[in-house]
Amino acid sequence: MGMSQPVREDMESSLAAPVCRAPDGALSIREVSKIYDPEGVHVVALDRCSLEIAAGEFVAVVGPSGCGKSTLLNIMAGFDHLSTGQILLDGQPLATTEVKPRPGSDRVVVFQQGALFPWKTVLENVIYGPVVQKALGKQEAQERARQMMARVGLSGIESCYPGHLSSGMQRRVEIIRALINDPRVLLLDEPFRAMDTVTKSASHEYLLELYDATGKTIFFITHDLEESIFLADKVAVMTTRPGHIKMTIEVDLPRPRDYRLLASPQFMRLKAQAVEAVHEEAVKAFQAGEREMA
Ligand code: ADP
Repeated sequence: MGMSQPVREDMESSLAAPVCRAPDGALSIREVSKIYDPEGVHVVALDRCSLEIAAGEFVAVVGPSGCGKSTLLNIMAGFDHLSTGQILLDGQPLATTEVKPRPGSDRVVVFQQGALFPWKTVLENVIYGPVVQKALGKQEAQERARQMMARVGLSGIESCYPGHLSSGMQRRVEIIRALINDPRVLLLDEPFRAMDTVTKSASHEYLLELYDATGKTIFFITHDLEESIFLADKVAVMTTRPGHIKMTIEVDLPRPRDYRLLASPQFMRLKAQAVEAVHEEAVKAFQAGEREMA
């Protein structure tokens, strides 16, 4: 994607204005449980789920389908509330039994299916958040958006409509749209799931470049173990439902990372560890009648 040799310092400086290296974004997930009870159907999605995420850490969460990954992300995003437990963001209550979380520009979500406004151009999409919230004037937002887009190979598509872009480009636009809000946390729910291998691998490089440049805290849900290890500082493996964190794997691979890492013995060792942990849970989920990991 023409980005394998980024001018990292340039990118850092162009992103520095809207998204300087994050000193914040620490998440503390403490004994969080979530019970869905639509019309009396009692589904325990999360059961005393705990996870500590340091400011600027990249955490990938893996686990069998239906184990509660999206539930946890939705609570952090403010789309849903928890039943018991608490989540703190930089030491402040984000979600507790008393505090109902609300969506906010400090926590931006990017989903697999995409959420760009199809009737707005790429540039209009990117500047929408800060302009509506009056965080930036229209002209300043446009200037910043153009700079950020240029750094990730998106120049020239400002006036295109999302429907005319590939899925890889759409996701890139969405991540820029998230970062222009200068969030404390970026929440990514399987953003690259439906992509072919080549597009996915290019998207990984692109996301890592942005992560290296901004140092934002990233909470990344995936079912792809290679992806989780390649991207993250820490892989959190969830149990089958009701979900909690079974184990965390520290990914002690150096940054910046590139695809050559995938063939390294350290990578293989970490992958074997993750495969074992997840396989055990997938078998349990299968026996319990849940869907297998997709
Ligand atoms: P994952 O993201 O790991 O696939 P989810 O968080 O989507 O898992 O779902 C966890 C469990 O909660 C699943 O059994 C799912 O069916 C159930 N669930 C999710 N959302 C709701 C809801 N709104 N009402 C009832 N049950 C739900």
